[in-house]
Amino acid sequence: MSTKGRVAVVTGGTRGIGAAISIKLKEAGYAVAANYAGNDERANQFKSVTGISIHKFDVADYEACVAACTRITAELGPIAVLVNNAGITRDATMSKLNHDMWQEVLDTNLGGCFNMAKAVWDGMRERNFGRIVNIGSINGQAGQYGQVNYAAAKSGIHGFTKALAQEGAPKGITVNAIAPGYIDTDMVAAVPKPVLDKIVARIPVGRLGKADEIARGVLFLVADDGGFITGSTLSINGGQHMY
Ligand code: NDP
Repeated sequence: MSTKGRVAVVTGGTRGIGAAISIKLKEAGYAVAANYAGNDERANQFKSVTGISIHKFDVADYEACVAACTRITAELGPIAVLVNNAGITRDATMSKLNHDMWQEVLDTNLGGCFNMAKAVWDGMRERNFGRIVNIGSINGQAGQYGQVNYAAAKSGIHGFTKALAQEGAPKGITVNAIAPGYIDTDMVAAVPKPVLDKIVARIPVGRLGKADEIARGVLFLVADDGGFITGSTLSINGGQHMY
């Protein structure tokens, strides 16, 4: 089977990094389903510009993930590629971080990876082919002040990736992670400018990354001939953290 026509699901695929991934996969011939949580306006705009199908559900809700994957399979075909990209921040230092902020970030950023992988796993095993890419973060590798919840969830993604890769390997399923550095998206636009200026000053390449530069990495990892690349983490961060 050629890459053309393989079905790819991208969580959080309507904005920022996820939108760039959805577009890159579509351009490469994949039939793409882009998920989002609640921003209908941006999702509909994305759909009308790109022609990519959009699917609203919460990745933190296991039953919703299973139902959505069943619907997507019925509409587009069996899911061959899963990109776990949906993520949120609820930043605060430990004294101000409350349990809800901790739980929401863990449930979305890490729980979402489990929920979606679980929903597609048996099908990928049956077909002896699958590609899963989980979007981690430089802050999961290095930690970040004021992001105990986010760093824990993203660090968890890297362990999740390595463990699941071992289970998928005999069945033709690769599981890899990408750890982006600071990328110019809505998420980073929320960082106060003085803080952002200090961050950019620490990036050897001297600028924020572009969403498309992460999408390139995803396309590389999900390729049909990428079967020997599994359990790896691709750091795309302008040289900010060499791990
Ligand atoms: P954005 O905030 O720009 O976009 C987030 C996307 O995720 C949106 O499509 C949003 O949907 C969706 N989403 C959020 N929560 C849920 C949910 N519970 N269920 C389904 N979809 C959800 O994020 P970025 O593009 O900046 O980040 C994408 C990923 O990359 C995240 O995992 C992030 O942690 C990671 N990352 C980002 C970095 C950066 O510098 N930007 C650096 C390192 C990692 P909706 O539009 O409906 O809100």
